[in-house]
This record gives sequence, structure tokens and C-alpha cells, in this order.
Amino acid sequence: MSRKPIIVGNWKMNKLNSEALEFMQGIEAHLTGEEKADYGIAAPFTCVETCVKNAKHLIVATQNCNEKDSGAYTGEVSVPMLEEIGVTYCIIGHSERRTYYNETNEACALKCKRLFASNITPILCIGETEAEYDAGETANVIKTQLKGSLEGLDASEVSRLVIAYEPIWAIGTGKSADQTIAEDCCKLVRDTVKDLYDEDTASKVRVQYGGSVKPNNIAEYMACEDIDGALIGGASLKVDSFIEIIDATK
Ligand code: 13P
Repeated sequence: MSRKPIIVGNWKMNKLNSEALEFMQGIEAHLTGEEKADYGIAAPFTCVETCVKNAKHLIVATQNCNEKDSGAYTGEVSVPMLEEIGVTYCIIGHSERRTYYNETNEACALKCKRLFASNITPILCIGETEAEYDAGETANVIKTQLKGSLEGLDASEVSRLVIAYEPIWAIGTGKSADQTIAEDCCKLVRDTVKDLYDEDTASKVRVQYGGSVKPNNIAEYMACEDIDGALIGGASLKVDSFIEIIDATK
């Protein structure tokens, strides 16, 4: 099964519109559309429209959505709102949202379901804390988060899903998971999808590694059989660094 790699920069709460525009122009000038991988960025809501308007080859994602279509939910953004401006991917359940905003597996499942109804592809994030890693709980955490976050999704949806395995101890720390840990965990993600669904679904789902991915280590991850891309924080913020990532993977 050949899966198209997908490499997405997660800007988190960074970039003004002017900076987003500069980034989009810089990267688009470098892309031809002939690359073997999908490349994209997940922008803050305020610069999504700027990104969409200036995207030729780049995917434009958001970093969250609400599962309800409209109503009295102050501060939230719905899937129809994202669809209207041309968003095609959406990060769900990033560890920062799980930690700071109490996002649960149940909420992730509802959001993913709603996104699939709109043809926006969720990028579902999972991953263990350092304490869980040290306690040998990684496999349990991966399985529990996946089971809960995929609740109610059918095989045809999960086969289109992107799952980002991001060990929390590697996020923003410069301490990336080594190639073996990253591959083993991404394989466990795929095996868990196989247990919950079937072999065909597991062979289609794209699994990213995330956590201190940089231009100088991305090729190691991309060489792994079960790693189909990366979700990148810090190294996705600068044009030069993102171009280095593209050049190391195209
Ligand atoms: P860093 O690449 O900065 O470690 O961030 C990873 C991440 O959280 C991407 O979603």
C-alpha cells in the first residue's frame, strides 16, 4: 500500500497576517506541485483566509474546530465556517489542547465525525506524557486515546484520517524520539487501527510523527515504514527551515 506522505507545520499561536502572507509566498515560490508528499500548514484562525488565498500547492489546516454547527458557543469556530473559507484539514486533540483546554477523547471523536461530514480531513493527535513514558505506559495510552478518539467513526472515514503520534516529552523540547521509538509507536498506532477496524483501513491511514522534528532529522523518520509524515512545530515557522524540510523529503 503506498501512502502519500503528509508534512504539516503547526504554527500554534504564532504569526500575524503579514507574517503568514510572507511565509505562503516564500514557500509557494519553492513548490512545483510535482512533489511526492503533501505539504501544509495549520494556521491560527485569524490568518487562515490569507493562507487559503495565497495557497497553490500548500494544504491549509486549522488547529481546532467545534463539533456543533452554530449557536451560543462564545469563542468557538464551526466546521461550516472553516469549509466556507476553503480549509481542507484540521488538527484535533493536540496535546496542548488536551492539557490546557481539557479536550477529551470523546470531544475529539465528535469533532472528527463532524469534519468527515464536511470533507475536511482531521489530523488526530495522540501521545503520552514523560511520566507515562517512564512508567512504560506508552502502548496503553496510545490504545486508549485511539479507541476513545475514534469512537463512532467508520472504516471509510478512518482510512482517510491522518493520525499524528506526538510524545509530549518530545514537543518543543529538542528531545526528539529516536527513530526506533518513533517507528515502533507509529506501527502500534497502525496495529491498533487494524484491531479496531481491519487490515485495509490500517494500510490506508496516514500516521505522522511529531515532536522536535527538524530539517536535520526528518529524513530519518521518513525512512521508516510506518511513518507517513510529520507534524512540525518550531521548525515550521521560518520559510528557510520549512524549505529545508521540503528539500529533505521531496
Ligand atoms: P515541535 O516541533 O516544536 O516540537 O512541536 C511539535 C508539535 O507540537 C506539532 O504539533
